[in-house]
Amino acid sequence: RLRGPGKRRMPFTADSLTRVIAVTSGKGGVGKSTVTANLAVSLAARGLAVGLVDADVHGFSIPGLLGLDDPERPGRAVRPTRVDDMILPPVAHGVKVISIGMFVDDPATAVAWRGPMLHRTIDQFLTDVYFGDLDVLLLDLPPGTGDVAISVGQILPHAEVIVVTTPQAAAADVAERSGTVARQTGQHVIGVVENMGAFVAPDGTVVEMFGSGGGADVAERLSRGQEAAVPLLASIPLSVDLRRGGDLGIPVVLDRPDDPAARAITALTDAV
Ligand code: ADP
Repeated sequence: RLRGPGKRRMPFTADSLTRVIAVTSGKGGVGKSTVTANLAVSLAARGLAVGLVDADVHGFSIPGLLGLDDPERPGRAVRPTRVDDMILPPVAHGVKVISIGMFVDDPATAVAWRGPMLHRTIDQFLTDVYFGDLDVLLLDLPPGTGDVAISVGQILPHAEVIVVTTPQAAAADVAERSGTVARQTGQHVIGVVENMGAFVAPDGTVVEMFGSGGGADVAERLSRGQEAAVPLLASIPLSVDLRRGGDLGIPVVLDRPDDPAARAITALTDAV
């Protein structure tokens, strides 16, 4: 049970000064959460007040990516502090974070919630969690065009949206659809991020594990019929350091800023 006795007003309305950016993808495993976590800490490192809502309720991974593990409960996320009916979000690398992983006792238990419960959870994350004044609120959406994406579209119709895809042609169709659904609720697609691009081995060999061109392809498709072109904001290569940073809970932009993937995320931070 998340809800305390009071019912506050959702602070992230269109007239608030907080930029709201939702990160989506067509399918899972393309690195959406990794990109979101890195972008969040990268923005915070520039002195911005940043909040991050892990809206990937069924597949939450943000606490682990940001090292928000409970020292007393191995493998589980820290619990948020409660003050009266408010929930105080834990802070990781300067980012205020909330995730369903902070409320479930056993991470192995599938969170088997359906539409209305998911909607209530997102609504409570945005209303009952005390973020204070934020410059940017990021949301890590679940992949695809399901209940949560639609709820976020209804609650935050003014949000900006970033679509993450891999370079693979097969990923482009589903990624485009996620952008299209975001638009149907009024959200503005600000750009595409291509992740898992060519890997450069220490001997200089270039391996295009997932092919090439998917990011530009999705950007081009989402630009059709629009007044302004949707840009490809960044292309992030496959990177051992990026993967390791996620496993360690220290995002690569902080852990290894010279890594090519970290540089690409820095470029994304500039572009956003
Ligand atoms: P999603 O949120 O789209 O499901 P994740 O961010 O959880 O994807 O990433 C899926 C897996 O791929 C994770 O194990 C992550 O460490 C790894 N990963 C993501 N991006 C990269 C990359 N550029 N290079 C290497 N591994 C990556």
